[in-house]
Amino acid sequence: MMKVRELQDDPASGGRKAGLNTRLAHSGFDPAEYHGFVNPPVVHASTVLYPDVATMKAHSQKYRYALWGTPTTDALEAALTELEGAAGTILLPSGLAAVTVPLLAFLSAGDHCLIVDSVYGPTRRFADKVLRRMGVDVTYFDPHEANDIARLMRPETKVVFLEAPGSNTFEMIDVARVAKIARDGGAVSMLDNTWATPLFFRPIEHGVDLSIHALTKYPGGHSDVMLGSVSANSSTYARLRENQMIIGVNAAPDDTYLVLRGLRTMGVRLARHGDTAMRLAQWLESQPSVAEVLHPALPSFKGHELWKSQFDGASGLFSFVLRADEAAGSRFIEALKIFGLGYSWGGFESLILMVDLSDRIYAKKPEAGIVIRLQIGLEDYEDLQNDLRMGFAAAGL
Ligand SMILES: *Cc1c(COP(=O)(O)O)cnc(C)c1O
Repeated sequence: MMKVRELQDDPASGGRKAGLNTRLAHSGFDPAEYHGFVNPPVVHASTVLYPDVATMKAHSQKYRYALWGTPTTDALEAALTELEGAAGTILLPSGLAAVTVPLLAFLSAGDHCLIVDSVYGPTRRFADKVLRRMGVDVTYFDPHEANDIARLMRPETKVVFLEAPGSNTFEMIDVARVAKIARDGGAVSMLDNTWATPLFFRPIEHGVDLSIHALTKYPGGHSDVMLGSVSANSSTYARLRENQMIIGVNAAPDDTYLVLRGLRTMGVRLARHGDTAMRLAQWLESQPSVAEVLHPALPSFKGHELWKSQFDGASGLFSFVLRADEAAGSRFIEALKIFGLGYSWGGFESLILMVDLSDRIYAKKPEAGIVIRLQIGLEDYEDLQNDLRMGFAAAGL
């Protein structure tokens, strides 16, 4: 059997790199390493034995202690490293831990950190509560002014933290341009890439140092596991890995296995999520009770051109502005039968929630109404459309 990595170098394949779905199916684990089984073993472990004192002293064997990695974590890390085009990947027990550990690894007292204002809410909470307490100065910048952040850079700016598109409101930024400003100023750039997954965007190819994922979302795909990852380029990987081990966090074996299992089917799932979401976004645009649809793949969206020039696709999470107050919005949400009211996204089931923009400095609550976020699951388009239609009717919209 031809291994996928060999497929890339095989002259018979014309030097052609295997496609993304082929890599999703095969990356990270070589069946020949474990008796031919196509999935890696789920290694439950703490202790690893050494054959002699000299080996222990030099740590000169592949595994030293389960915190440092097992064949199970190796398999998922290798798959993500390959998909992200990274030098290495670390795993963390949640997406939020995949945000906080790299910030702790690259910031010290007296440093300055620039963070895009459209960042995931709990990332902001960590910056406000923990980074500031550590003596790090934090500045949020308007995603629509991202090209001008050079004027916000200081000699002590050590991290520029990005998210594209922005959480809940999907603001886009010119990632390569902002990453270059960070690098020229001596700062490490990090991008929360959860919305796009490595199938639709690979930040390291655009000059970003660290690409962060809530694997809880599309890679897991079934709303039954929480995990995070940080993929790093060659100039940041060693420091990231060292700090992960100093802090003492890694991923549990069963969770790691579930995410690797989810990754194998992520391409077909995402195609369906993205397709249904795009059709619903277009339909919502034509609804009288909808003032605006916030979806990067819609030509009417402010950040559309930036999305189109950098991303290879759109996933199934978007928002819209409903011409309603909170009371009517609540009636709409509570009338739905398929869309569930709950946090997170990327699973098989559709979800809805009312977006809270109160922590944002630059994004104002739209005058036209309230912002509603939809996670489009794998249900049939007609059923989801009907659910929303009945919700509008029940709320008198
Ligand atoms: C959900 C999410 C996270 C956090 O992931 P958890 O696994 O839920 O901790 C981080 N960033 C973004 C953009 C997210 O949507």
